[in-house]
Parts: sequence; C-alpha cells; structure tokens
Amino acid sequence: MKKIAILGISGSIGISAIEVIRKHNDEFEIVLATAHKNKTKLLELSEEFQIKNIVLTGSDNGNKVDKTNLPLKTKIHYGKNSLLELLNDGNFDVVLNAVSGSAGLEYSMEIAKTGKILALANKESLVMAGHLLEKEIEKSGTQIIPVDSEHSALFQAIGASPSKYIRKLHLTASGGPFRDLPLEKFPDITLKQTLKHPTWNMGAKVTIDSATMMNKGLEIIEAHWLFKMPYDSIDAIIHKQSIVHSLVEYCDGSIIAQLSSPTMKLPILYSFTYPERLESDLIKTNIFDLQDLTFHKIEPARYPLFFLANQVGKDGGLLPTIMNSVNEAAISLFLEKKIHFVQIHKLVKNYLSSVKNISEPNLETILTANRINFEKALKDYKQYI
Ligand code: NDP
Ligand code: MG
Repeated sequence: MKKIAILGISGSIGISAIEVIRKHNDEFEIVLATAHKNKTKLLELSEEFQIKNIVLTGSDNGNKVDKTNLPLKTKIHYGKNSLLELLNDGNFDVVLNAVSGSAGLEYSMEIAKTGKILALANKESLVMAGHLLEKEIEKSGTQIIPVDSEHSALFQAIGASPSKYIRKLHLTASGGPFRDLPLEKFPDITLKQTLKHPTWNMGAKVTIDSATMMNKGLEIIEAHWLFKMPYDSIDAIIHKQSIVHSLVEYCDGSIIAQLSSPTMKLPILYSFTYPERLESDLIKTNIFDLQDLTFHKIEPARYPLFFLANQVGKDGGLLPTIMNSVNEAAISLFLEKKIHFVQIHKLVKNYLSSVKNISEPNLETILTANRINFEKALKDYKQYI
C-alpha cells in the first residue's frame, strides 16, 4: 500500500483524489489530510478513510473540533506549523499538494526537503519559487510529479527524451467561457458567467484564472521550472475540446501529445503510481468520440494577462510572486464584486509597473512580498484601476 498525504482534501482536486483512492483502496492509504476551514468535510473523510492525522490549517486556536466526533484512529492538529511538522516527519510516500494559491508554497518547500514524491497541483509554488524548489529537490533527490493536466501530459509525452531533442512545448488551453464572446461585450461580463467553465469543474481561483488566461501564463512559468526549458521554447494554443492536454514538438518535426477525456483523475492517478501505471477503468476515453480536434492562436486583445504573465516569467526574480499575489487580490475583489472582470488585468498591469524587481529572492523575501503586495493591492486597488 502506498501512503498518501493530501493537502487540500476538501477542494476540487482533493475530491478527485478521493475518487481515485476510493476506486483503488487496495493500492493507496490516506495517512494525512488537510482542509483550511471545511472541518465538516475533513471529519467526514477521516471517518471514511480512518486517516491517522488530519490538520485544519485555518484554525490555530478557536473553531476546534469536539474530539468525541473523531474516529478513534484519528489525531487532529491545527494550523500551518503543525502541518509543516507533520510534513517534516516524512511519514508518507507521496504528498499531493492541492492547496489553492500562494499558501501552497511553504508546504511544497517542506515536502521537497523530505525526499518523498511531491505530486504537485499547486502551480503557484513553482511560479513563486521555482529556483528554490529546484535546489531543494536536487539536494534531497526527490521528484516533482506534475498534476496540472497540461504538465502531466508533457511529462508523459517527454518520457525519457533528453531536452536537447525538444524544439517546443505546446500547452493547450480551453480558452475559458469567453473565447467566443465579442470583445465589446467584455465590460458586461458577470461573476456568474466567469465561474462557469465550459469543460472543467474547478475551484473558484483557477476557474477565474482560466477565464482571464492568467492560468495559462502561470502554467508557462510552471513548465519552465518543471522541464528546465527556456521561455522561447514554451507556448500555448487554444484547444477548446480539452482532449489533447499538451504536445511536445521534437527537433525532427515529430509531435507527441497526450490525449484523454478531461478529468483530473488521470493526472492524479499517474502521480500516485509513477513510474508505474495501474490498470483502471476510472478514466474512459473513447477514441471514436475524439472528433474535430481544433487548435488556434491566443488573441492578445482577449487574453492580455496571458501575455503579461509570459513577460513576467521571463523577467523572473521576485516579479512572478508579486504578479501572483496581486492577481490573488484582484480575484478576491472580483469575487466580492468590487472590481469588474476587465479590471483584473488593469490592476495587475498597473500595479506591476509601480514595483521594483529583485533577482534570486530567498524564501523569506518571497513570503513577505507575497503578503505585503496582496494586502496593498487589496487596500489601494482603486488607484490602479
Ligand atoms: P479549491 O479552491 O477547490 O480547493 C483548495 C483547497 O485548499 C481546499 O481544500 C481548501 O480548504 C484549501 N485551502 C484554501 N486556502 C488555504 C490556505 N490558506 N492554506 C491551506 N489550505 C488552503 O482549489 P482547486 O482544488 O481547484 O485547486 C487546488 C490547486 O490545484 C490550485 O493551485 C490550482 O491552480 C491547481 N489546479 C486545479 C485544477 C482543478 O481542476 N481544480 C486543475 C489544475 C491545477 P477549505 O476547503 O477548507 O477552504
Ligand atoms: Mg492546467
């Protein structure tokens, strides 16, 4: 039995991971699970899977759980530091980091030190601190197995091929709910429309990022660190069917892609079984349904945040962290209906043009910049839009 830890078990990726484990409960055992605030879900799952350690990261003291509600086998812990300690113990084979947003970074850094496999859904970890994670991983000899569907596809299509044979990595993008909306209608976009993704059912943050295509920009940065490829050798294309999850173009003109029906269960399963594969009927891809696979260029006027994020990735240093934190602030403001959809880009762009970059930032600098810029953008947003 492989011992699995799931950070963010109450979220969209967490729930897909649960479905994978339910189906293959003779292969995987959940030994550690976390939620931030959703204690009902965390308790329900600890009961079902008899999880040894659970952590409610969003509660340091108040909001505690009545211990009589816990299964006998389960120990409950509170707060970020308890989780960091449990990660440091390294009592697992694979950790799925499915925490949303910048909060996932410190956990990824701790997991990388343990030498255990980091199944990474939390792309923000690499966006903010790819250079630090890279060093930690080299030291401990661990491996990141990507869970983001595009990166899992690239990982599978690259296999053991040396990077000198790769001409280009092509990430696919669904284009989100507004790929066909006339540009003049963008000022009328509502929150409800934005939260309705055409092909994927995901958490609010990544769904909004998919609509603005900041998500794809973050994924370009993620691919840069995961596959050690220069930015000029990574691009993205619109593929609205979400069947081809990404493509690797080799130097001789051959293109190798990974295809499957759009479900996160496959990249999750693969990250649990890697380097092996498990016989499973959990994911059904019918080859005769795969018709009319189309590919288009990304329009700059429709998705300015994608192009901005690309440039920020190239600039590197502290800028990707600042961009990410301001984008997180912009999303909170949008969710609270304080800013409009098109103002997400305005806020991020104008804020970034007011800051100075720092190269090779350490973890403390990154975490501080993340917090300060998030708070500042949230407070002073009016002056940037
Ligand atoms: P959700 O918002 O659905 O879930 C987030 C999870 O993280 C929840 O368990 C939540 O707990 C927990 N969480 C929230 N804030 C914090 C915090 N400050 N500290 C610790 N834990 C926290 O997100 P998704 O599952 O959609 O996404 C998770 C990650 O995976 C993101 O980085 C996303 O970009 C990436 N990803 C997601 C995909 C998807 O299909 N959903 C696809 C590819 C990548 P609680 O419920 O208690 O608030
Ligand atoms: Mg993705």
